[in-house]
Amino acid sequence: MSAAIEGEVVRRGEAGYAGTWSAMLWNELKPQRFPDLIVRAASERDIPAAIRLARSEDLRIALRSHGHSWCGSPLRDGGMLIDLSALTAHEIDPITRTATLQPALCGREFVAALAPHGLTFPAGHCGPVALGGYLLSGGLGWNSGALGPAAASVRAVEVVTADGAARTCSKEEDPDLFWAARGAGPGFFAVATRFHVTLHDLPTAVAETTYAFPLGDVEPVTRWATAAAKRLPANVEASFMLATASPDITAATPRPKVISFTGTAFARSPDEAVRCLEPLRSCSLSEHALFRRTDVHKSFEDLYSASSGFWPRGHRNVVDTLWSDTGYETLLPALAASVADAPSEQSLVLAPLWPASQDRTLSHDMAFSVLGETYVAPFAIWDDPAADTANTRWLRDTMRAVEPYRTGHYIAEADLTADPSRARRSYTPQDWARLRSLKTAYDPDNVFHTYLTP
Ligand SMILES: Cc1cc2nc3c(=O)[nH]c(=O)nc-3n(C[C@H](O)[C@H](O)[C@H](O)COP(=O)(O)OP(=O)(O)OC[C@H]3O[C@@H](n4cnc5c(N)ncnc54)[C@H](O)[C@@H]3O)c2cc1C
Repeated sequence: MSAAIEGEVVRRGEAGYAGTWSAMLWNELKPQRFPDLIVRAASERDIPAAIRLARSEDLRIALRSHGHSWCGSPLRDGGMLIDLSALTAHEIDPITRTATLQPALCGREFVAALAPHGLTFPAGHCGPVALGGYLLSGGLGWNSGALGPAAASVRAVEVVTADGAARTCSKEEDPDLFWAARGAGPGFFAVATRFHVTLHDLPTAVAETTYAFPLGDVEPVTRWATAAAKRLPANVEASFMLATASPDITAATPRPKVISFTGTAFARSPDEAVRCLEPLRSCSLSEHALFRRTDVHKSFEDLYSASSGFWPRGHRNVVDTLWSDTGYETLLPALAASVADAPSEQSLVLAPLWPASQDRTLSHDMAFSVLGETYVAPFAIWDDPAADTANTRWLRDTMRAVEPYRTGHYIAEADLTADPSRARRSYTPQDWARLRSLKTAYDPDNVFHTYLTP
């Protein structure tokens, strides 16, 4: 233990360092970057003390809430890593429909705690993802089509800045810092210790319609689904997935590659949920479908279980994202060719329509921006360390197939190690310039690491 720090302090070279280091990331693919010192904060009281220690030893600081960064942003070479994973508390006020939460609280836990109050929050699609890094990035979660990016529901953020001072930023207090705290993501230049959020009515009924077709049908399926989706209301989340068929789609072996299209309705009653999915009830391509299930009632737990099936813990992952103004009719056939050749059966491409809501006012006045009309996210997922190079190359080649159509990336899931411009391209030029100047203003001595680069 270091003076004034209640939590554990582990230095490189000490017994226990390797285990602590390896636990810092959810991804089994661990980048070989090693901080000199890892401080596992016992509570938010440890943060000013850790900052003082880092400054006294001239150590640049990296931060971790729960280590879900796909590209391993918390792990940097040298310096101090402050691990905030013990900060998981939350308080719900059902009367004012607000809550406060600490950064390592996981989405699934928060959503489950809100449900008995008839309330919810647009947490990420996978239950274990911590709200800290997610909210700082913008946060594209369940029902974002209706609720906007999760950061739109953040009212204030408590932070500790590079000088060790605790402050609260909001639209009224420190509005520049508040603007940055809603989108700067892994380049944020302070420690976020608590988020104050607005809650939403719990959609008491969730229903889902899914079709899956052979991957070779990508062009007609994309044409049908994008046309049908135009008639879906904002509270239906619609997405394509290009992947290997799961056993519930077909028992055939080898398992074929498929394009699936799912609409998930979040509504106030089962009847309303089914009505919302009406545009997907009939499909002119039905006789080609390998799988068709309409209006299936679900719970949030069902949604989280299904996403854990596609993104389970314990695998090696490289992930990237791309915003575009080009239609899915062009993007998906290019990506289907890649998925057909993926070296790993687990790899897939997700293409959510309107991942952050078509109502752009919901993304106003925050560093997060919707940078295109369409959005795709390829995931390379595999197990064998000997296949790291082949799978990373596949992911990069897949991105190259659509990069001519790129208008930007999403900072939460962009592969910042793919090229030095990934972080910059995750913002409009004006927002990037503003982020850089705020970093200089709030962290003039570069106490905190900025965006990871190759
Ligand atoms: C399985 C999986 C599913 C995902 N699904 C979604 C999804 O549906 N929607 C979506 O938008 N994103 C999703 N993501 C991406 C996720 O939002 C980001 O990886 C996010 O950073 C995770 O939060 P974290 O707190 O675990 O991040 P960490 O890995 O702990 O941190 C990442 C970076 O964020 C910064 N940071 C983290 N916490 C703090 C803090 N308290 N103060 C200051 N800076 C901090 C640091 O710079 C750090 O390097 C998913 C990721 C995974 C692995």
